[in-house]
Amino acid sequence: MEPLLQLFDAHVRGVVEKRDDVQLVDTTFAQLTTLHLGGRPAHTLRCTTRDAVVDIVQLLDKHNIPLLVVGGGSNLVIADGDIPLIAVIVACDEIYLDKETGELEADAGAVWDTVVSLSVDQGMGGIECLSGIPGSAGATPVQNVGAYGVEIADVLTEVELYRRDTGVREWVRSADLELSYRYSNLKFTNKAVVLGIRLRLRNDGLSAPLRFGELARVLNVSVNEIEARRLATTVRAEVLRLRKKKGMVYNPDDHDTWSAGSFFTNPIVSPEVVQHVRTVVEKLHGADDAAAMPCFDASGGRKKLSAAWLIERAGYPKGYPEDGPARLSTKHTLALTNRGSATTEDLVELARTVRNGVEKTFGVSLAPEPVWVGVSL
Ligand SMILES: Cc1cc2nc3c(=O)[nH]c(=O)nc-3n(C[C@H](O)[C@H](O)[C@H](O)COP(=O)(O)OP(=O)(O)OC[C@H]3O[C@@H](n4cnc5c(N)ncnc54)[C@H](O)[C@@H]3O)c2cc1C
Repeated sequence: MEPLLQLFDAHVRGVVEKRDDVQLVDTTFAQLTTLHLGGRPAHTLRCTTRDAVVDIVQLLDKHNIPLLVVGGGSNLVIADGDIPLIAVIVACDEIYLDKETGELEADAGAVWDTVVSLSVDQGMGGIECLSGIPGSAGATPVQNVGAYGVEIADVLTEVELYRRDTGVREWVRSADLELSYRYSNLKFTNKAVVLGIRLRLRNDGLSAPLRFGELARVLNVSVNEIEARRLATTVRAEVLRLRKKKGMVYNPDDHDTWSAGSFFTNPIVSPEVVQHVRTVVEKLHGADDAAAMPCFDASGGRKKLSAAWLIERAGYPKGYPEDGPARLSTKHTLALTNRGSATTEDLVELARTVRNGVEKTFGVSLAPEPVWVGVSL
């Protein structure tokens, strides 16, 4: 830690002191993340303009000072103890909306749900199904956030990037990010910082097509209704209601939401693996359960299974283990939660138990969704 602190004092501190769009803040990752876990970074810099983000990242890179870009901290698992890096919080948060064209531009540090609520309130549709997802606008392309049948890829047109490998700042088309299920070519690479995003929204106040069964049912969409849409305001209210029931809206007073959301991605497997899993489920839980196993088409003839469903069938119910400092949420099997006194090691131990149990029972390997720093499964 000492050499890093010296480098910081020699090359960065003076620059920070001269700017009013960068603040040195005293904080730990436990305070910065929705899991409320993680130790203390060497320093934390809060950047309130896009230029500040670029200048600070460029400066730290120039002096080979390790850094972590942080948005809302809702998809981060950070080790306990001292973390030898500078946390760079992206805190620029302007939002611009052109109601005529439906074009919305947000600074990367804008709170994502504020972007959604503002757009819906202004009569725009397209992102209402992404209501209640914690974190920043700039992180949404990083893992192509998605919920209730919609992904950011559906509306994202361009992102402004600062490319750390080349030093270039530029707008790039969404197609260049290779967005797919919980993936972009930015995820896990640290090669670029998102400075801003541009979305193309509908300006007729209607939602995106309702393709997610549970949501369509509560909005009374009949099976014959193709590409059904409803008022974006109605859909947002319903999504928030469903998410709250599952502990998927972050609430500091509710330990079921002290999580990183879905901890594992839904596994995408071959039809042969599906058959094997079904046979095991039938043996353990009976034919009816096996027939009801959620299984959706994915690209290339592969199938997507439900990680939450497999976890429950492997013997890990909601709230497991009853007395642990880290537990599965009592509202949703896929959220690993800190009950208030957990350490990162406790959470990782629980993740290992669940992942190994699912692998042993079904031969399916679950991949974690969050970004890990200083710790691994
Ligand atoms: C209760 C709860 C519910 C959730 N529900 C969903 C859901 O329904 N769907 C879903 O997809 N996700 C969900 N998540 C996960 C999480 O909210 C999203 O992944 C979110 O986009 C993370 O944003 P963040 O700003 O908090 O990112 P952080 O946690 O701060 O960072 C995550 C990663 O992105 C990088 N990053 C952050 N900002 C930038 C930037 N500007 N430029 C480059 N890299 C950046 C970080 O370096 C890190 O690698 C949920 C999480 C919680 C806690």
